[in-house]
Amino acid sequence: MGRKTIIENLIANGVRGLQPYVPGKPIEELEREFGLSESIKLASNENPLGPPASALAAIRASLDGLSLYPDGSGYVLKQALAAHYETDPNRITLGNGSNDLLVLIAEAFLTAGTAAVYDEYSFVVYRLAVQATGAETRVSPANPIRHVQPLGHDLDAMRALIDDNTRLVFLANPNNPTGTWCNEEELHAFITSVPAQTIVVVDEAYAEYVVHSKYPCTIDWIDEFPNLVVTRTFSKIYGLAGLRIGYSLSQPNLAEVLNRVRQPFNVNSLAQSAAVAVLQDLEYVERARAMNIEGLISLTDGLVSLGLDVIPSIGNFVLVDMGQPAEPIYTALLRAGIIVRPVGNYGLPNHLRISVGLPEQNQRLLTELKTILVTVS
Ligand SMILES: *Cc1c(COP(=O)(O)O)cnc(C)c1O
Repeated sequence: MGRKTIIENLIANGVRGLQPYVPGKPIEELEREFGLSESIKLASNENPLGPPASALAAIRASLDGLSLYPDGSGYVLKQALAAHYETDPNRITLGNGSNDLLVLIAEAFLTAGTAAVYDEYSFVVYRLAVQATGAETRVSPANPIRHVQPLGHDLDAMRALIDDNTRLVFLANPNNPTGTWCNEEELHAFITSVPAQTIVVVDEAYAEYVVHSKYPCTIDWIDEFPNLVVTRTFSKIYGLAGLRIGYSLSQPNLAEVLNRVRQPFNVNSLAQSAAVAVLQDLEYVERARAMNIEGLISLTDGLVSLGLDVIPSIGNFVLVDMGQPAEPIYTALLRAGIIVRPVGNYGLPNHLRISVGLPEQNQRLLTELKTILVTVS
């Protein structure tokens, strides 16, 4: 047996079937490959305003401390988050992005012989986190396309897959890649219906963008549900995706379990300082939210007027049906210096996910897409 084959055989069962996560193409890579400049990225739902000045100032002020380990307990940031949510710091767990928390939750509660449920059209990281543990993945069917939340979470279908072995349910609200959402009433009823031995992870990466009055305040439900974990991030509206920082809220005993598997210094010191600063930067967050609300409308309207079906979104991105295989359109957009996100890996080969950009970026996307659609169809 060759050495390579031997390594293949040594892989842990859960890891053997894994395919690495494919991120949105970085701008530098596109420009290298295609010899372009002035490219834009509307592929990873990042904040197009760029990093908040408040965070940059906090980072600069922290640079002299870089020879020291960060505060592994994240004391200052947890205090700031606790004040922000009017809750107790011992309910908060910090992560190297909320992705870190999703993995920690899977590691802490899943083993071979247990199962986890998630929707067929949901964040790919759920599948990766579950599979790596060797637990069973149970994929629930999404809503049909003709539905008020097209391709969104079907909570009844998710509930039907939960049995005695089910340790975790992952759902995103708003959901990525669909932009759909669950309202307060249906989500509360769902969590109430889930047995106590199944932990419900509500991933709220885009919550700060939502302005709808029926959008649930899940953080207020933590007292009621010992099996609820809510995850949030500084990667999206707070404009700090490159720093990698997120957090979860849960009852303290569940937070304590996550703390057992967490790397002692999983969140770096610059990220902690920047997060404290931007949490207080209401002006930046409000500007991002307001720009997104307008951009979401103009992008959606523009795509619809190109004859495309767009799923109504309350996030900072839209899922669009190209009515044909999306890959050639994706590639044509790349040649035009625009990176969007193909979602074939989500089982949606005809769709593209497009992040809301600056007004001029949205316009550039619509103009290029109009030209491309004439040539490819
Ligand atoms: C972007 C995103 C995240 C955030 O990941 P980070 O690790 O915090 O950058 C989490 N969940 C979903 C559904 C997302 O789309």
